[in-house]
Amino acid sequence: MTSPTTVRTLLILGASGDLTGRLLLPGLARLVARGRATGLRLAGAGSDPWTPEQWRQRVTGAFSAAAKDAGQEGRHALDSIAQDTAYHQLDVTADGALAALVAGLEGPAAIYFALPPQVSQRACEALQPGQLPPGTRLVMEKPFGSGEESARNLNRTLVQLVPEDHIHRVDHFLGKATVLNILGLRFANNFLEPVWNREHVEKVEIIFDEDLALEGRARYYDGAGALRDMIQSHLLQIMALMAIEPPATIGERDLRDAVSTVLRAGSVRAPYGGSSRRARYTAGTVAGTAVPDYAREEGVDPARNTETLAEVEVRIENWRWSGVPFILRSGKAMGARRKEAVVTFRPVPHLPEGFTGVDAPNQLRIGFGPDTLQFDVDVNGPGNIFSLGRVTLDAELSASDLLPYGEVLEGVLNGDPLLSVRGDTAEECWRIVEPVLRSWEEGAVPLEEYDAGSAGPRSWAARGAAQSADRTPG
Ligand code: NDP
Repeated sequence: MTSPTTVRTLLILGASGDLTGRLLLPGLARLVARGRATGLRLAGAGSDPWTPEQWRQRVTGAFSAAAKDAGQEGRHALDSIAQDTAYHQLDVTADGALAALVAGLEGPAAIYFALPPQVSQRACEALQPGQLPPGTRLVMEKPFGSGEESARNLNRTLVQLVPEDHIHRVDHFLGKATVLNILGLRFANNFLEPVWNREHVEKVEIIFDEDLALEGRARYYDGAGALRDMIQSHLLQIMALMAIEPPATIGERDLRDAVSTVLRAGSVRAPYGGSSRRARYTAGTVAGTAVPDYAREEGVDPARNTETLAEVEVRIENWRWSGVPFILRSGKAMGARRKEAVVTFRPVPHLPEGFTGVDAPNQLRIGFGPDTLQFDVDVNGPGNIFSLGRVTLDAELSASDLLPYGEVLEGVLNGDPLLSVRGDTAEECWRIVEPVLRSWEEGAVPLEEYDAGSAGPRSWAARGAAQSADRTPG
């Protein structure tokens, strides 16, 4: 059993919302059931006139899976949170309403804004400096602002309310285990670091292809698209971890400074027709299930030209990475799920004459969810000892015993901002993608099409194949 959390009350704004029911409460439940969040009270708030019983039922329902697996102590902890929880009906954007609610909670409190982004922003703007009790933490969901300037404005609002290290900008993609797995691999292995640079690395790809299609989320997704939804937030954070300089410690200051430094050196180069691509899925079949044309899905406005597959090539202009493309891609309704970072090494400078059969460079692949490590190396045989063939060294990396949102909440409740996106970093991520978004809006990059269930537009596959042929040693 760990010591009690720093935060005494978790207040979830958006009690009736999807995020709360599907991800936040189950994440919290596992954390509590494992004895990793003790002495905590839970409060929910929303604009609906819910009875306390309605909220309690929602909490109990969302806690049920964790309760089934928990021991007696864990079940008791879950029960006592559910019995004690309160629901507050309020309009969080109304003057003084949220401040009055927080003033009445047992502090310090963490306020989780599980609200539509514009509502979260207005709720924060309605709070006045000095209104929140010392120690209050603000937990902000993605998207954080809608561009660099709006992220900066939101940052200005927030730091007038609480100090920066009390602001948690959530990126649930970056679970603690994933972050530490990347850092451990990179900085605890002496054979890797000397080759982790432009001399030896040809390119780094960070791919997040989902087989899921829109799944009824048009209201949010059609206004966002793959570049904003995935690349602007999650994939740039992973890129940063793959590219940072070795930090002295894995404390939040050293790590977040290093992430910020490397992102400041990142940009997508114009013309964007060469450094970015976008596409939208048409009708097809994914894993045997028919998927309708994206443009015909309920709630989608086809004239928006929202992309469901996006790719950008980021350049990091510093000594280590100058000239190395970082290719970030994310797509929906893809034929195969693929969530990984792939480092492709340059071919050897000279393969001794007499060997045959090498056809691809070394690759190191870090898979996400579950976290895995694969290293493709060339070895002799089998059969002809002069012929080199490919083997893959495989390892499973450690998994967390928490759900992704449990990891997020653990950081919040213990007052550790390590996994939170720092304010300057949130602005940098928008700076990197905004010129691409603008050029897409101006129509400078065509919106291509791909069949749901395929590997993307055919022309993309052809380009990828041509690039890999260019790399093959003679
Ligand atoms: P929903 O639309 O499902 O829920 C929004 C909630 O906000 C509702 O409970 C609604 O309550 C409440 N609300 C809206 N206006 C007010 C107001 N003025 N005062 C008080 N409560 C209000 O959204 P999601 O749960 O899907 O998303 C919430 C946030 O989480 C968003 O920022 C989203 O981008 C982010 N997110 C969501 C994910 C998901 O899978 N859902 C994944 C990752 C991030 P009521 O109906 O009573 O008005």
